[in-house]
Amino acid sequence: MIDRLSTKREAASTATTTSAAGSSGADRWHDLADRVLAGQRLTEDEALAILASPDDELMDLLAATYRVRRRHFGNEVQLYFLMNAKSGLCPEDCSYCSQSKVSEAEIPRYNLLDEQKLMDGARIAAERQAKTYCIVISARGPNEREVATIESIVPKIKSAYNLKVCACLGLLRPDQAQRLAAAGVDRVNHNLNTSEAYYGDICTTHTWRDRVGTLEAVRDAGMEMCSGGIVGMGERDADVVEMVFALRDLGVHSIPINFLNAIPGTPLAGISRLNPRYCLKVLCLARLANPASEIRIAGGRELHLRSLQPLGMYAANSLFVGDYLTTKGQPAEDDYRMLADMGFTVARNPEPGTVLAGCSSAT
Ligand code: SF4
Repeated sequence: MIDRLSTKREAASTATTTSAAGSSGADRWHDLADRVLAGQRLTEDEALAILASPDDELMDLLAATYRVRRRHFGNEVQLYFLMNAKSGLCPEDCSYCSQSKVSEAEIPRYNLLDEQKLMDGARIAAERQAKTYCIVISARGPNEREVATIESIVPKIKSAYNLKVCACLGLLRPDQAQRLAAAGVDRVNHNLNTSEAYYGDICTTHTWRDRVGTLEAVRDAGMEMCSGGIVGMGERDADVVEMVFALRDLGVHSIPINFLNAIPGTPLAGISRLNPRYCLKVLCLARLANPASEIRIAGGRELHLRSLQPLGMYAANSLFVGDYLTTKGQPAEDDYRMLADMGFTVARNPEPGTVLAGCSSAT
């Protein structure tokens, strides 16, 4: 796997860096941003050129990408708060995941939390200025009791707090998606994680197509789709490009970009060779390929972006505040300070009953 990582990254680094616009430096990235702002879709060559761009053009690439971010989201940042509502115990074999059946990682293992604990999580999400409360379970898909618990708790959360609710429950059948929508779930997360071609290298117990099927069920039920990926699993640049294009073609609303935190005890432990500059290029790619979608810097942010975290916000417009599913995030106060130092503001949900004149993020 590690050999594959190095050979594929080498191959990718030979990809042309002149195909984005035929010019160099600031001009070609601003020309590319101009085309995206005019409504053109990124081509595959342009996308590969972003990932293979020289480091000395990174600030130009970020500046150009920021123009697209600003068009759709201004200087606002959407915060999300994660609740690991059921930990470990998953029968799937996703090789990046500390909760899979093949993981020997030392993590808490517990069944679905009771309603009081789920409500406590919602209170913390509201206190931390999160716009969305994400309820996540480790599972191939939810059982009847888990769907019924979500149906019961979501109306209570919404009557107590001004929060959107995102559910991440694994693979969903259309009837399950319909029930979640009827209960008031705003959005469902189900990550594609990587390209269809590479998916078999990271998981054998379900397919990339299975995941697409869940997203289609979510969309057909009238909920928003949240789906993103993990970078740093040994995939090629072409796999990253294929994934962000697939998310674009599905019309995904919210795209979390994770940078692999190769947790000891998981099959991918020790594989990650990301550097902060490459991570920033991935965020620029995600934004330029999906101009109006939320781009969230997700797991691995602190580990891989390190001191360059603030630069990521010129491409992304969203963060998780607090901890991830089985790993620690940085203190929320550090995030608030970073955003304030940048002059960015935390977006809040409109109060219930507010009539909106228009939606700037849809233009
Ligand atoms: S289905 Fe989800 S919880 Fe289960 S192993 Fe895969 S990523 Fe982890």
